[in-house]
Amino acid sequence: MEAPRTWTHSPLARIARVVLGTRRVAMVIGRTVHLSGASRQEFLADAEWLAHERVHIRQFREHGFFPFLWKYLVESARVGYFNNRYEVEAREEARRVMEERNND
Ligand SMILES: [Zn+2]
Repeated sequence: MEAPRTWTHSPLARIARVVLGTRRVAMVIGRTVHLSGASRQEFLADAEWLAHERVHIRQFREHGFFPFLWKYLVESARVGYFNNRYEVEAREEARRVMEERNND
């Protein structure tokens, strides 16, 4: 599978990192993974993290850029980040990927 495009030291990801108060952030916009607090190498080396963000890239592709952005924001406002259905899907898919890796 081809590695996704990344944007390190992304100003958008930096804002998200400050707002969330976390050490590192990856944030998908369209097909690009915006990173703050992590290098491309660190991101790509973390299989679960990579799998999670790949789901968001697929969500953008499947829903369309603006429709997905909108649905994601509405969902976040409604139920919060953690229970956001698109986050739940990404977490579950990433966990499945890791389980499959461990079973190989
Ligand atoms: Zn996510």
